[in-house]
Parts: sequence; C-alpha cells; structure tokens
Amino acid sequence: DEKIIKAYKRAIQPTKPRNPIDVKEYIDTQAKPHLNFVVLGHVDAGKSTLMGRLLYDIGAVDKNKIRKLKKESEQIGKGSFHLAWVMDQTTEERERGVTVSICTSDFKTPSANFTIVDAPGHRDFVPNAIAGVSQADVAVLSVDCGTDAFESGFNLDGQTKEHTLLARSMDISTIVVAMNKMDTVDWSATRFFQIQDELMDWFKKIGYKEDQIKWIPLSGFSGEGVYKIPYPEEQNWYEGPSLVETLEAVATKVNDESRKEVLDKPFIFSILEVSSSKKNDESILAGKVESGSIQPGETITIYPSEQSCLVDKILTGRELESTNIAVKGEFVTLKLRQSHPKDIEGGDLCASVGYDIKSGRKFKIRLSTFQMNRPLLPGTSVMLFRGVYEQPARINKLLTLIDRKDPSKVVKKKVKHLPSNKTAVVEIELTERRRWIPMVTIDENKHIGRVIIRKDGRSVATGAILEVE
Ligand code: GDP
Repeated sequence: DEKIIKAYKRAIQPTKPRNPIDVKEYIDTQAKPHLNFVVLGHVDAGKSTLMGRLLYDIGAVDKNKIRKLKKESEQIGKGSFHLAWVMDQTTEERERGVTVSICTSDFKTPSANFTIVDAPGHRDFVPNAIAGVSQADVAVLSVDCGTDAFESGFNLDGQTKEHTLLARSMDISTIVVAMNKMDTVDWSATRFFQIQDELMDWFKKIGYKEDQIKWIPLSGFSGEGVYKIPYPEEQNWYEGPSLVETLEAVATKVNDESRKEVLDKPFIFSILEVSSSKKNDESILAGKVESGSIQPGETITIYPSEQSCLVDKILTGRELESTNIAVKGEFVTLKLRQSHPKDIEGGDLCASVGYDIKSGRKFKIRLSTFQMNRPLLPGTSVMLFRGVYEQPARINKLLTLIDRKDPSKVVKKKVKHLPSNKTAVVEIELTERRRWIPMVTIDENKHIGRVIIRKDGRSVATGAILEVE
C-alpha cells in the first residue's frame, strides 16, 4: 500500500470555491443552529416509538404513510407498532439512495435543524451505539418509567449504564432524559422523581453535573410531552419544556460553542461510507464535517491514500439537494473529481489542503479504564473503535500511570498492569497489517481524537489519541 500512496499527487496549493460564500456572514445570518443527537436506552425502552412520534408530529413523515403503516401493524395484531416503524421505513428509503452505515434522519423546527443519528438494524447493539455516540453532540436517553421496567433496564447487564458511560467518555455534554411511557404509571410524580433520583446518582458517579441532565415526562406512544400534544390532567406537577423545546434550547447552546470550530479550525471530514460512481475519477463520500467548512471548487486531501481531489458537489438532506456550503456538524455527501475511489474506505479522513493528517499503526493513547473483570496487561488483545471504524489491536506497552483528574501528573513511572478505573499512557498497535489508519490527536479534534477499547464483547476503556507514530 505504501507504493500506491507514493503514486498519488498531493496538492500544495488550495483552490478557490466556485461561488465563494463568506463563512462568518453565513453562520451569523443564514445558518440555523444545528444539533446531532443519538437516541440511547435499553431494548424496549420506547426509542423507536418516540422518534416515530416526534417525526410524525413535526410533519417530517407523510400522513398517508403513517396510515398505511398503522393498517399493516393492525393486520398483524400489533397496532402499537406503527410509530416504531417510521424510523425503519426512512432507513429503507435511504438504502435505495446513498447507503450509510450510520443512518441519519433530518427534521426542522422554526428555530433549529436536527439530525437523528441512528445505527439501523442494531439499535441496541453496543458497537453501533459507539458509532452513533461518536457522531452526536448530545444524547436522548429513553427510560421506560413503567412499573419494574426501569429496574430491569438499569441492572448491570442492562444497556442504560453502558450507553451512558460511553456517552460520558465520548464528551457528550448534555443528556436529555425522555422519561418515557409515563401513561403506564398514570403520570405519577412519585414514580418520576424516584427514577430521577436513582439515575442522577449514577450520572453524578460517572462525572455529570446536574445542569448537564434534562428531564422530561412524556409518552412516545400517545405523544404528550413530545411536541404539541398537551399533558393530560393527571400531570399537573411538571411545567417545563417539551422534548422538542428542550432540544431547541440545547441546539442554540451547542451552536454558540461550536461557532469557533467552524471559523478557526481547518476543514476535517470523516468518511462514513464510499459509494461507487460510473465516472471513474469520481468518488461519492457520505460523512460528517468534523470542523471548519467546505465549498464546491475547493481541493481536499484524503488520508491515508494522500490523494488530492476537487470537491465538485456537496449534497445534503433526505433529497440530496446540492448546496454551496457545509459547516462543522453537518452530515453531507461529497462528490469528488480527480479521485481514486478504490483507495478510499469508510473511516478515512479528509482535510483541507495544507493541513496534514498522520497515518500509522502505532499510537500513544491516554487510556481510562472502566470497571473490568481483569486488568489490562502488555500484550492484551483488544478491539479499537473510532466512529464507524473498528480494528483489532494490541496494547504494546503500559508507559505511565497518571492522575485521572489532572493528566499532567504522573502517579507511577513503571506500570505492570492496568486495573479498573485508572488512567495511563499506553502504546497501542493495530494488528491487522492491511492498511495505515489516519488519526488525529485529541488536541486537534475532541470528537475524532477519541477511541473506545472493547474486549470480550464489553467496553473496557476510552482513549484519547496523544501521538501517532
Ligand atoms: P425500542 O426497542 O426502545 O425501540 O422500543 P419500541 O419503540 O419498539 O417500544 C417497545 C414497546 O413499548 C412497544 O410495544 C411500544 O408500543 C411500547 N411503547 C413505546 N412507547 C410507549 C409509551 O409511551 N407508552 C406505552 N404505553 N407503550 C409504549
């Protein structure tokens, strides 16, 4: 593969956009706040029903389609399922267009644009939750408030704990807790506050503060508390915003914070999926703008192949409409010319000309372990995840043990094993020698500078990339 890399020509000079847009003016005046969120929660917690309800009430799905789904679900005796099918239906539709291993559903309200990040098919499967969480700014956690249901989802084997721990370790700043299925407990305030107390203890334990967690009583099934449907009389104890109003407020806050990453950072794009094209120098890349912005006519370089290509078109939304600009946080499809698609894969990274991304097999990582059955040792085999990217790896060396709260403080210089709930600097090496992997450090980008380590089917640690060899 090294030979191929040398064969490509890498641009040194940037090229100008075809119809230049002033980025600062654009985000100040035209761009609405945009929020990516992932939906987490235990199997049967009501995630699909809730998202179906939300998309339906907002008007993002066709009324006829809902009617048809309802009829179908009644025919098989599962009348309540039609809302849950909405998400899957949009998934199927997308699969006829550009397939992405991460599926996104867009919707708009008057004050913000949203993308629901979803891993179709395996919504409850942890590696997919990792991919979803890594693309999101915030998480909506669906909790089944039904009697006993909460307890079963919240025991150690339940996904609620692992999902929220992943969210925390991947810098998800806000968790919106959809206190779901409140209709099944007659909108009981006692039940609501009991679950809230228990969950808040857990959130605090993993490092969240109270103001980072929002709580909304709702029913995804009948729709109260989601968007426009008012609460029933029994619910006279909560006067806060609905789920959508909460998400709008969070979108505005996230937008203010990410403004700098649009204006002051280079364009970096993570590729989720590559589709084929009939034109042989054209590549069609679905992915996410991780920082900066991009316009048609600009030149970018793709890593690890180090090929420079021209951005011919940028496509956005469900209809894949052409747009003149994409900024940090947006999921778009890039149509590139002067490219070699056979050497581009999901997980690859792109950047603007002049910004170097290193590729390698060995990385220095700041690793923070979760609760594990056995400590990690030099030579331990693991799986490494970053976004959609997943590779077998080995922990080569345990370098130093450091303070969890203050990473600049070395606690111990010789480390023989790494137990649960500790932080250490380690050297990790990818063991499949097929390809070099582009990596950015945590200082370059806090989203893609982060990896998750799993072993024996469980998440055991989160890592921040410090150095690429
Ligand atoms: P998921 O596995 O988390 O996506 O959960 P689903 O959305 O498939 O819902 C699981 C079950 O709970 C289905 O039978 C739904 O009809 C039911 N359900 C979901 N939301 C509600 C709700 O708000 N109230 C009631 N009573 N049932 C719900």
